[in-house]
Amino acid sequence: MQTNFTPAQLADPHVAESEAILRKCVHCGFCTATCPTYVTLGNELDSPRGRIYLIKDMLENGRPADEEVVTHIDRCLSCLACMTTCPSGVNYMHLVDHARIHIENTYKRPLKDRLMRATLAAVLPYPQRLRLALKAARLGRPFAGLMKRVPLLKTFGVMLDLAPRGLAPPSAAAQPGVRPATTERRGRVAILTGCAQPVLKPEINEATIRLLTRLGVEVVVPEGEGCCGALVHHMGREEQALVAARRNVDVWIKAADEGGLDAIVITASGCGTTIKDYGHMLRLDPAYAEKAARVSVLAKDITEYLASLDLSRQEARNVTVAYHSACSMQHGQRITTVPKLLLKNAGFTVRDPAEGHLCCGSAGTYNILQPEISATLKARKVKNIEATKADIIATGNIGCITQIATGTQMPILHTVELLDWAYGGEKPASLQK
Ligand code: SF4
Ligand code: SF4
Repeated sequence: MQTNFTPAQLADPHVAESEAILRKCVHCGFCTATCPTYVTLGNELDSPRGRIYLIKDMLENGRPADEEVVTHIDRCLSCLACMTTCPSGVNYMHLVDHARIHIENTYKRPLKDRLMRATLAAVLPYPQRLRLALKAARLGRPFAGLMKRVPLLKTFGVMLDLAPRGLAPPSAAAQPGVRPATTERRGRVAILTGCAQPVLKPEINEATIRLLTRLGVEVVVPEGEGCCGALVHHMGREEQALVAARRNVDVWIKAADEGGLDAIVITASGCGTTIKDYGHMLRLDPAYAEKAARVSVLAKDITEYLASLDLSRQEARNVTVAYHSACSMQHGQRITTVPKLLLKNAGFTVRDPAEGHLCCGSAGTYNILQPEISATLKARKVKNIEATKADIIATGNIGCITQIATGTQMPILHTVELLDWAYGGEKPASLQK
């Protein structure tokens, strides 16, 4: 694609990077076929190619974001299916990240949107605040239907619907410290405790620590870890995301220098995609560029790390699993076959739902901020999953677990919970009911 940026504009490294991305796009439109919002809405401006034109026009003319650009960029799930499909290697992720920062810096949203976004950014990344908010949500749930009928309160009503019915007590797995290997030691990793996941489903990291230590891997929960920054990063709140990234980089580099680390293990693929991008996010910060790149190399999804341990083959068990590949897993990190191979090796029968490339509509805060499109995508996803006639659903991302669970009666678990069970752990509590 031909571009017309001035030398002065290209002196800004963010603009220069976006220009290089734009030049790679050859307008072929292959990406439209796999874009969930184009497939759902049928509008070119809700396709990757349409959004790329909108971003190009906005950046080239150096103008503030307007309502049209904001509408169509907000509808983008950042699922990155377009990057998997694109034959020209267009890095849509970095382009839309830049567009979202530009929107945040130049566009004044209506008051209710600003309030909602500020609330989400102030609550979701902080486990204690999220726990309090979810407790309060229980009181508000009876009014969810009413709130959804009032335009000003609609998004709060959607949040109440998504809030889980029960809440587990704080998990010991989130406490800082070292969990020694319980068999001959063969590795040492740090684990990201995360922000929403330990509140919504602490059993994921509990299963991870049990499994790893049983396999001879020492697990460190470093003091000072926090949210990876993905939630606010996708809202264009660059500085808040970079503060989170720098804090985690400091914590993990300290852990690596003190005791050595083979990996930083991540059990939420949405977080993994962002942490693997820390090297890029902090590339212009001389104090952090090198350390952040080191962290990105160490970052591994739990299934990637488990695959390196050469686990023994287990006897077949009579359980069929529909494997839902999160977008951040398959498109963001390009991890496609590894989780399924691990499950098969562990004795499960694995089925692939149709249209596996399409997002379930979770996408961070998307199911709160774009509830209609999100609900359409969830219904489509659940229909495809249920058509597999599997016993349970496995996936590798807390956002998908929360989203899909509200649309089906099928049990949905994290892949690592099933692997922990297969390699000597208890049957997951959610399957014992
Ligand atoms: S990230 Fe997903 S929703 Fe956004 S343009 Fe690409 S395919 Fe479409
Ligand atoms: S597939 Fe790639 S090159 Fe083709 S229009 Fe989409 S982003 Fe551009």
